[in-house]
Amino acid sequence: MPNARRHPLDAPYVATIRDVTPGSAAAKAGVGAGWSLVRVNGAWIPDVLAYRRELAVGDAVLEAAGPDGDDITSFSVSWEDPGLEFDDVIFDGLRLCANKCDFCYIHQMPQGFRKSLYVMDDDFRTSFLYGSFVTLTNLTEGDVRRIIDEHLSPLYVSVHTADEDLRRDMMKWWRSKVKDPAVTQIRDMIERLESIDIYTQVVALPGRNDGDALDATLSYLASRPNVQAVAVVPVGLTDHRINLPDLSPYTADEAAEMVDRVEAFAAERLSERGTRFVFLSDEFYLVAGRALPDAASYEGFVMLENGVGMVRDFLGSGMGERPLPTRLAAPKRVICATGALFAPVLREALAPLAAVEGLDLEVRELVNRSFGSVTTVAGLLAGRDLLTQIEPGEADVLLLSPSMLKYGTESFLDERTLDEVRSALRMEVAIGGRDLRELVDTILHAHVAAHAPQFGFSTHAVKEAARQH
Ligand code: SF4
Repeated sequence: MPNARRHPLDAPYVATIRDVTPGSAAAKAGVGAGWSLVRVNGAWIPDVLAYRRELAVGDAVLEAAGPDGDDITSFSVSWEDPGLEFDDVIFDGLRLCANKCDFCYIHQMPQGFRKSLYVMDDDFRTSFLYGSFVTLTNLTEGDVRRIIDEHLSPLYVSVHTADEDLRRDMMKWWRSKVKDPAVTQIRDMIERLESIDIYTQVVALPGRNDGDALDATLSYLASRPNVQAVAVVPVGLTDHRINLPDLSPYTADEAAEMVDRVEAFAAERLSERGTRFVFLSDEFYLVAGRALPDAASYEGFVMLENGVGMVRDFLGSGMGERPLPTRLAAPKRVICATGALFAPVLREALAPLAAVEGLDLEVRELVNRSFGSVTTVAGLLAGRDLLTQIEPGEADVLLLSPSMLKYGTESFLDERTLDEVRSALRMEVAIGGRDLRELVDTILHAHVAAHAPQFGFSTHAVKEAARQH
């Protein structure tokens, strides 16, 4: 339980209260920010799911301890929200992974980023709450029962392959960390969890789990009614692979072969069961130089944060209805900064703006100097990558992808802030927009502060942007 907070009152863990709603039952009982929730209905509460479960019975007695942790205050609620907000959703410590995957992104991350980015979380509760992918290899029998009994559905599961021997070889779980060897058998787990909807992921490694092995995996997954979809994403690599197995990125030819194979499988499923079932990450299309599927082909973009359909979603229906102005009221130089993978797409999408007089627009393709040039996605660019590849004062406005900032904040991966980058580069720096239409609007009309990040990196998002876990 690495981040569980132990409590002086012999509680195995407590939930730190961040805020209390004025006028709520908790506020009336004198509970405030900085207090801890210790028990509900006499039981320790390991996470927000258990908390909600206890409240769902109607009458609940809550016990909270003050900041010093010595006095307990009890109060009751009856079908009402107690008014507590917590620091986190997991109170007993995030479950860590039991694996040492050949392709693990954390093992190849450079040092110097925020500590939480190195946490190898693999917690079924955050999978249910946030849609992060988990491997299931660290579950106990009690966890499996809890998933079924509390119907924690849907879950997001990293399958990688349905060949059990190959999966063990790719993921190399630690015997000492696996609490129940039965849970490492992915087919048994998918079948035991038959009442749970499962979205799956395959991180594809050239020559390992692709080709015929991938066909077999897809056929097996498609045969299970509870498996809703599969995302196939290419292995993410950095230049910091030290003493790790040799892995290569997909070449253009290999990526094209993958597109052909998966699209053929998807077309068959579409005619048989009305869904493509398997979706490829954008990276395969971009590396192969193939046209991206249309928006309808993503069937609601269910795995968007996994890089499946992000480009099509961004392009949306294009630039919008409004005609472009012939000239700007005042000349302006704008740089749109992004990673090598997306830069050609963005350049082509923004090409019509070249006709606008007074607008000097450049799509700047940044090399990822933090992770290495092999890392080409925009979401893994750090603040330092901007500072080293854009000259102070060389533009009026610098526009960025929302995925470069942590969700809900103005912080980059390396904890530099938008303000720091702004003042170092001596220009306006902002999020360009959630889609092409908003970006064009921002470029032309300078509504630079209008777009909050729609999503951005979290511990999970970094890993998923890196196509692993
Ligand atoms: S890829 Fe995920 S599951 Fe595998 S070792 Fe890394 S953190 Fe653990």
